[in-house]
Amino acid sequence: MNATDDWYDVSRVVDGTYGIDECDKYGMYLVEGSSRAVLLDTGVGVGALRGLVDDLVETPVTVVLTHTHWDHIGAASQFDEVVVSPVELPGDGRISVDSISDEFAHRPREFARQWLADDNAFPDDVDPDEYTVEAFEAAPAPMADGLPLGDRTLEFHHLPGHSPGHLGVLDPETRVLYGGDIVHVDHGLYVLFEGSSLDAYLESVATLRDWRDDGRFDVLVTSHNEPLAGSELSLLDDLLDGLHEIADGEREYEVVETTWGRAHSYRVGTSNVLTKPTV
Ligand SMILES: [Zn+2]
Repeated sequence: MNATDDWYDVSRVVDGTYGIDECDKYGMYLVEGSSRAVLLDTGVGVGALRGLVDDLVETPVTVVLTHTHWDHIGAASQFDEVVVSPVELPGDGRISVDSISDEFAHRPREFARQWLADDNAFPDDVDPDEYTVEAFEAAPAPMADGLPLGDRTLEFHHLPGHSPGHLGVLDPETRVLYGGDIVHVDHGLYVLFEGSSLDAYLESVATLRDWRDDGRFDVLVTSHNEPLAGSELSLLDDLLDGLHEIADGEREYEVVETTWGRAHSYRVGTSNVLTKPTV
């Protein structure tokens, strides 16, 4: 198995836009404009993502990180130009697996151990014992101006809550909104990390609901699910209702144990919203 097209699954979302999947779980998107391409997120970083991307597009590539959790920054060190929300950029411009919080430092090791225990392999030329998420230099995303691709400009928006500087990236041409970890279907919505905020998350989901109603996007793509469109976007209404009830203390929850300690788990639609227990 090679570390490029064998390791990653590539699919077409719309013309000039590719979905790239690592391990059937960690999604990235490559958006090609006439003079620049943007790669949204970089997975867990086992494969040779740069090689794959260079085969798919002709133009220079800017990596945009929706946020700096470990499973979005994995292969960022392979690229020359990486931008991220100023909120998640350390003073020295250097991002590592623990720069936002040390809660994620153990995740690459755990992932590798579990992946192999589940009878999967690494690419032939990648030694699982050597696998790590390498630190890299990044620059602040051009929040006000957006990022010109030649034929159009991608817009950046802050959608915090899951992480403090979580970005949404809107392609006004294809009307696709790249939402990172803003929603998950059928698995946990984590609002329990250092820098997570339920109030901020509620505001972000309300913003998405308004943009949907205003017709600013037709498709919401996220990092760990298939793209959502049409009636599927009604999940934003259920989620917003649920978040209001959680914020008001009116929603039932279960106490569960997670990798990150004890949490309150609220069933909302098909997902569980996970928060830190309030003390
Ligand atoms: Zn995340």
